[in-house]
Amino acid sequence: MTTKEILSFLKQETTSIDYERYLKQLNYKKNSSDENLAVFEVSNKFIINWIKTKYLTQIKNAFESLNGSKPTIEIKLAGERIKSKKDIISKDQKASASESTMLNPSYSFDNFVVGPSNQMAYNATYAVAKKPGILYNPLFLYGGTGLGKTHLLQALGNFAIENGKSVIYVTIEQFMNDFTFSIKNKNMEHFRAKYRKCDVLLIDDIQFLSGKEQTQEEFFHTFNELHNEKKQIIMTSDRQPSQIGGLVDRLKSRFEWGLTADIQPPGLETKIAIIEKKSELNGITLDRDVINYIAANLDNSIREIEGVLIRINASASLLNQEINLELAQNLLKEQIKEQKDNIKLPDIIAIVAAELNIKPSDIKSKKRTAIVANARRVVIYLARELTLNSMPDIAKFLGMKDHSSISHNIKKANELIEKDENFKLIIANLRNKIINKD
Ligand code: ADP
Ligand code: MG
Repeated sequence: MTTKEILSFLKQETTSIDYERYLKQLNYKKNSSDENLAVFEVSNKFIINWIKTKYLTQIKNAFESLNGSKPTIEIKLAGERIKSKKDIISKDQKASASESTMLNPSYSFDNFVVGPSNQMAYNATYAVAKKPGILYNPLFLYGGTGLGKTHLLQALGNFAIENGKSVIYVTIEQFMNDFTFSIKNKNMEHFRAKYRKCDVLLIDDIQFLSGKEQTQEEFFHTFNELHNEKKQIIMTSDRQPSQIGGLVDRLKSRFEWGLTADIQPPGLETKIAIIEKKSELNGITLDRDVINYIAANLDNSIREIEGVLIRINASASLLNQEINLELAQNLLKEQIKEQKDNIKLPDIIAIVAAELNIKPSDIKSKKRTAIVANARRVVIYLARELTLNSMPDIAKFLGMKDHSSISHNIKKANELIEKDENFKLIIANLRNKIINKD
């Protein structure tokens, strides 16, 4: 196997931003003396931990899919001597109990920073972790992208495993694939034994159940069986159950049987605390003014804040320079420009249409119903804010004759944001989705 083969596998499995910035640097060193060990080199030590916590599973999957092997993966700085193999292996074995359930061991309650925006979700999850199947069943967590839903879900999973429970963590897409595969191979007993016999079932991103009728049917029975047996079910979603389109009512109502808790974007203090925590975990030292600057200028998601920290650190070390405010400012400016270059008008239309439950073609049509007019206004507002297109560009793209109606729509949207809390939330949620679209 070559670096190229492994990278092309990883490229499909990861976001393009992560791939281009970090994973592309991985260099696979064939280790002829030991085929149970796969060594990768990178040229920047700060991304080693980051790749390990985020992408170790995908790198392992690459080996398993490409040649069926299951080597221990080690990532090291180019030129650095390899640690003793015993050391690596014993660490790997410790991780393996949770890896079999695909849980990331670094997602723990301890590493989760609690603030007003996520307090309720945290408390509920922690309470359920201590008494699974007894308190709130199911527990349903919802909120925007990159705000910590998966982190909490997996923290609960890790906690439950430590307490001897059997845990299954899957995204709803994995559940669906598993289900389809079992039908094809006429192996439903195995599927049912797996999902209906665990103590704790964690399902991530359940909104993708939308429109999948057969999977909904199967999940309905899985849910009932587990619930009857007082086994714990926890789900996450980007929206609350009643807002998931294409979901049968009996599931919607069941999702609300226990407790639903939301996670909001963090306020300034929480962002500062998160930045402090993440830099501590990654061994990065930041001045107060740099921390404040990042916290004040990034509001989209914690995932994004993490990405910026890694970038700041990486570029300081490449330039062999201290991390200071100027460096942070330049980097963020560059990042915002890059982001704008990367967002296209059709993406905005597709995401807004999906979220507001209309057809993308309606937005470019002449329809004037209130729903369509509102969606068009949202598209115009976000297009102006998140892309480099001018007002005439946007007018032309939407098939509108004159761009004065663009500025009129933007003015109106600004008014609504001021006085209509619901509109403001919709915009914030969509902005988050568009920026994190990969
Ligand atoms: P979501 O599933 O909601 O899209 P994730 O759980 O994947 O978001 O979180 C994105 C990143 O942000 C993860 O690396 C996670 O560790 C981090 N994160 C989110 N919320 C917090 C928090 N309150 N404290 C510490 N890290 C957090
Ligand atoms: Mg998630």
